[in-house]
Amino acid sequence: MSNRNVYMTDELQAIYDQTVDFVTNEVTPNGELWELDGMVPRDVLKHMGALGMLGLRVPTELGGLGMGMLASATFSEALGASTYAGFDVTVLVHTDMAGPHLVNSGNQEQYDRYMPGVLAGETILSIGVSEPDAGSDVAGIRTSAVKDGDGWLINGRKTFITNAVYGNMTIVAARTNPEDKYGISMFLVEAGTEGFEVATKLDKHGWRCSDTAELTLDDVWVSDAQLLGTPHRGFYETMKNFQNERMVLVGMGVGSAQAAIDMTNQYCQERKAFGGHLYDLGAIRQRMAMNQAKVDAVRASMYHAAWLHDSGQDNVKAMSGVKAWGCEVVNQVMYDCVQFHGGMGYMRESHIERMYRDARILPIGGGATEVMLEEVAKRS
Ligand SMILES: Cc1cc2nc3c(=O)[nH]c(=O)nc-3n(C[C@H](O)[C@H](O)[C@H](O)COP(=O)(O)OP(=O)(O)OC[C@H]3O[C@@H](n4cnc5c(N)ncnc54)[C@H](O)[C@@H]3O)c2cc1C
Repeated sequence: MSNRNVYMTDELQAIYDQTVDFVTNEVTPNGELWELDGMVPRDVLKHMGALGMLGLRVPTELGGLGMGMLASATFSEALGASTYAGFDVTVLVHTDMAGPHLVNSGNQEQYDRYMPGVLAGETILSIGVSEPDAGSDVAGIRTSAVKDGDGWLINGRKTFITNAVYGNMTIVAARTNPEDKYGISMFLVEAGTEGFEVATKLDKHGWRCSDTAELTLDDVWVSDAQLLGTPHRGFYETMKNFQNERMVLVGMGVGSAQAAIDMTNQYCQERKAFGGHLYDLGAIRQRMAMNQAKVDAVRASMYHAAWLHDSGQDNVKAMSGVKAWGCEVVNQVMYDCVQFHGGMGYMRESHIERMYRDARILPIGGGATEVMLEEVAKRS
């Protein structure tokens, strides 16, 4: 299927094609093993780095391609074609959820130190905001950082942190001004820093090949050089990437929903029943046609919201709506695709069984549906 749409340029189409080729050849055939291992092999990420796939959003002067949100939409949708959402999110946390904070708030010394490894897939990033007592309500985080000589002493806990078990550096949000509920700063905390530990590798419903950590920070000392951006302004600096983070979750969902529709249509066209094939049944073909129409609409809305950003317009309302509605659509599609696979759709050996599990997190993570709808409602 051609992915060309009104916002696509030849460059974006080339990114889409290269990414689909990569996941088709390198990810889909191997993903099952990674699911069992609970991790994506580091060599695969380094291979992507060597191919220049990890720097779409990194400015050219820092060694990337300097592209905008439409590139992330294209990349995330193409990754979704892998059908292994655990792989997709491993990459997207690095490139689109954690990486942009380094780009947006880093200084030259931090770029020099970390950007080569980030682009090469050698320094895999995670973003540590959520805590056991604070998820949707980011301003409620309790992890604290206190000035200590020429550095900071960080104490607290983080949970559900993607890429933090096997990754190399976490961008940690910590409260630095107890007087102000938004008085948060961001710190670059390298894996292996004393006191910074993976308490648990979390066992998840889906995204099995993505590693997710509960982290403890027990008197973790980092130097001033590890402070990312302006002290106490971390909450606002983090917000700069919210729309992008929301979008790539939709993008990978759209890519996987399209793959699910394609594989289900094919299955129904081949599955014999009632003297013909399942696909001959109006109830099935029409529901699948409606699913296709919904996915096409989500895809178009997502690219439009990305284009709004890239053309300098506010896209919070548009992107929040796409996140809320798009992630629900992806789950409805997965439900129907399992349904039309019949008993086979309930078997661990089928792709669709895993894709159904993988999709469930999309309306929760990166801004739950209800939180997104509030963003729309207060702008309506
Ligand atoms: C697999 C996985 C990976 C993750 N990766 C990361 C990561 O890399 N880094 C990171 O920092 N975090 C990560 N998270 C955390 C994720 O962003 C949070 O789970 C999410 O923000 C929801 O927070 P919560 O789980 O604390 O739920 P809560 O905030 O307790 O909310 C529970 C539910 O209540 C409802 N709700 C919440 N707020 C409102 C509201 N204002 N109005 C109406 N209803 C509401 C929603 O339905 C929500 O799902 C990850 C989570 C998972 C499960």
